[in-house]
Amino acid sequence: MAEQKYILEVQDMKKHFAIGNKKLKAVDGITFGVRKGETLGIVGESGCGKSTAGKTIIGLYGITAGDVLYNGKSIKNMNPKDRRNYTRSMQMVFQDPYASLNPRMTVGDVIAEGIDIHGLVKNRRERAERVHSLLEAVGLNSEHAGRFPHEFSGGQRQRIGIARALAIEPEFIVADEPISALDVSVQAQVINLFQKLQKERGLTYLFIAHDLAMVKHISDRIGVMYLGKMMELTTSAKLYAKPLHPYTQSLLSAIPIPDPEVERTRERIILQGEVPSPLNPPSGCPFRTRCPHAMDVCAKEMPPMKEIEEGHFAACYLY
Ligand code: SF4
Repeated sequence: MAEQKYILEVQDMKKHFAIGNKKLKAVDGITFGVRKGETLGIVGESGCGKSTAGKTIIGLYGITAGDVLYNGKSIKNMNPKDRRNYTRSMQMVFQDPYASLNPRMTVGDVIAEGIDIHGLVKNRRERAERVHSLLEAVGLNSEHAGRFPHEFSGGQRQRIGIARALAIEPEFIVADEPISALDVSVQAQVINLFQKLQKERGLTYLFIAHDLAMVKHISDRIGVMYLGKMMELTTSAKLYAKPLHPYTQSLLSAIPIPDPEVERTRERIILQGEVPSPLNPPSGCPFRTRCPHAMDVCAKEMPPMKEIEEGHFAACYLY
């Protein structure tokens, strides 16, 4: 994975937190690369570590072990110039647009915050022009700059959150469940906006979601996480056509199929039990307490991630 073709390389990255005298292994050794201009979806139930992974990659949390390389450079020991470039290149869009927007600031000031911090404009006129063009880029209009976040709907607020992320012209966006809090009718519009912006600006996305249906259309490749580990990673098409990991199979079987005939006759995989606590994960394969195919060997050690078919990786003793 050390080839330059990846703009971002996550190498056996771990993020652990101390909770009392226990260790919460929120992210426990995940490896993947993201190519320039692609969208990598990361999917899993709450508590699987996907959000922590996003926040660690962007530098909001320190890395416990492993590494993250951006354009071949480790983010752990960057010199101040590279660090500045990194924080300018990477931006995050959050799940709850309202909580992430300061209610006392006008939308124009919210969007211009990064522009001001990085000193990207020469005067107020240029600043206003930049804000107006960002508002238009996300489907809002320039009059919205003088209003406050509470005057907007959930979908509009997420558009403001996206405009704020774009303000400093990043190359890479970590979108942390950006559509989960929105009405279903609005979700598709926001996904379309992400796709339009990617095409126009050549952006690279790490797109985090809890539901495979949400990332299907936007992702080139998808990684499936469970209790801090990566279970499967491949192209969106392969994952949907032929999921290999039993956990992915169960996630996919929960998505309704629009064809009533297929929907009536297909088999559902109902998982037993709840996701175990990440403070006390099962030994070996973390999915073994719910896996319909669990064997003795599964309790011993975490199965390694293997390339089962070309470009299709899974961590499971069935393969
Ligand atoms: Fe199931 Fe074992 Fe595969 Fe884990 S390694 S998913 S428990 S078969």
